[in-house]
Amino acid sequence: MKLIFLGTGTSSGVPAVGCRCRVCTSKDPRNKRYRTGVVFQTDGQNILIDTPPELRLALLRAKIRDIAAVCWTHTHSDHLNGIDDLRGFYFLNRKALPCYADERTLKHIRRHFKYIFSPNEPGGGVPRLKLKIIKRKFRIGATTVTPIEIDHGVMSVLGYRIGNIAYLSDVKKVRGKSMKKLKGLDVLITDALRHQPHVTHMNIKEAVEFARRVGARRTYFTHIAHNLDHAETEKSLPRTMRIAYDGLVLKSQII
Ligand SMILES: [Zn+2]
Ligand SMILES: [Zn+2]
Ligand SMILES: [Zn+2]
Repeated sequence: MKLIFLGTGTSSGVPAVGCRCRVCTSKDPRNKRYRTGVVFQTDGQNILIDTPPELRLALLRAKIRDIAAVCWTHTHSDHLNGIDDLRGFYFLNRKALPCYADERTLKHIRRHFKYIFSPNEPGGGVPRLKLKIIKRKFRIGATTVTPIEIDHGVMSVLGYRIGNIAYLSDVKKVRGKSMKKLKGLDVLITDALRHQPHVTHMNIKEAVEFARRVGARRTYFTHIAHNLDHAETEKSLPRTMRIAYDGLVLKSQII
């Protein structure tokens, strides 16, 4: 199984528009971050997690030519607003794309992207999506996907586990029931916004403590803000914990 990072930046992306800070003007390519999303590549198929605003650019860059399904984590724009780029998969396959999320997220999508689900004028291309509510563990082809409920401030959102890789993009707190779903991980990917505390995201200190509790063989931090310089922050981390960057590909042998 492979996991490809399409984007690793927080909601403003890095560099942030108009910002002249040290990180935003850095020459290190790892300090250039699209909004967060990943692809799980397993059982001969690609499973896309979220549709961030740079979706088209990210898919082209990662050379992802087709996807079997989409799973959304939550309703925030940085995870959703690339939804229109899914239309390409209908042009390619002429069949509706299965898209999974919790009930609240699907309701939000139907309301905010009404044009996708309304009759369209001839010649106008829209994504064709088959929305599916997640209630428990589910399958996409031969792949079992485990949803993990996590707290993103006051909002309950989803992370996903496939095999021994878990992806929690936006998280402040993980409760006991969900901690159980994180046992025996090869790779944990979790939120670590910046050094300063934040109400809806873990900061580096909280993320390191959380990663220790989970005890995965390797941990990668994502959803990174422009306050964190990649190289400098990595130096201060335990060796099993790294900062993800756009284009990074992880391989997990244990499935
Ligand atoms: Zn900046
Ligand atoms: Zn969010
Ligand atoms: Zn986010």
